[in-house]
Amino acid sequence: APALYVVATPIGNLGDITLRALETLRGVDLVACEDTRHAKHLLDQHGLRVPTLALHQHNENEAAEKLIRLLGEGKRVALISDAGTPGVSDPGARTVAAVRAAGFRVVPLPGANAAITALSAAGLLDERFLFVGFLPAKVGARQTAITALATVDAALVFYEAPHRVLETVGDLAELLQTPLQPQREIIIARELTKLFEQIERLPLAQALAWLEADTNHQRGEFVLIVSAPPVKNSSELEVETERVLTALLAELP
Ligand code: SAM
Repeated sequence: APALYVVATPIGNLGDITLRALETLRGVDLVACEDTRHAKHLLDQHGLRVPTLALHQHNENEAAEKLIRLLGEGKRVALISDAGTPGVSDPGARTVAAVRAAGFRVVPLPGANAAITALSAAGLLDERFLFVGFLPAKVGARQTAITALATVDAALVFYEAPHRVLETVGDLAELLQTPLQPQREIIIARELTKLFEQIERLPLAQALAWLEADTNHQRGEFVLIVSAPPVKNSSELEVETERVLTALLAELP
């Protein structure tokens, strides 16, 4: 039966592809991919000879129409991105929406994802996280976006590229950590699943110094996780309320 298979591929380590992903890629008529050369490389590695079709952010609407025509002819189509899960900070969402709207089945194949991989090794006890992905590139927009996240009661998960990691971490430290607030922590996860994988957990206020201490710390692909704002427990709150009230009362005539 025709269907669009949304297939996660590795984020670095070539072994991180599922048996089901390989079986599915072997059985489809076409693989829609961000970059055909990149996809062919992956398919070659597994001895798969399947036609590819470029589907990236600049042609996603036309490419999706093409896929829908093929599905109408009864074809089976896979969608992959350059790395990890399609549609997560990657093209795919518009295609999936169009394919669903056209009444065809969309079948997700779970697999690698950088955010979840970093979270699995972060050891955060907060149950909740907010996936932010990439922040805006322009300074003003980025700082506005971070400020809007300052009071969110969840761990925050960001994606960042090496050429912006210093600026972004600097902004995160400045805008998410006030000096009087209990410390928030950051997990800097770089090159996940790759040779130079590094996962460092430290106070947010020390993150910039850590990056600057060694240029190797600034290399590669990054997931940044900032722990949730520490919540005071109720007895701490009562003590503080009493302290503030006592101080205020002393000021009354
Ligand atoms: N679709 C992908 C996923 O499921 O995670 C994300 C694609 S997005 C265009 C690329 C960004 O993901 C990188 O800039 C980096 O922030 C993050 N990323 C991808 N691979 C990574 C890795 N091996 N280690 C750390 N971060 C990675």
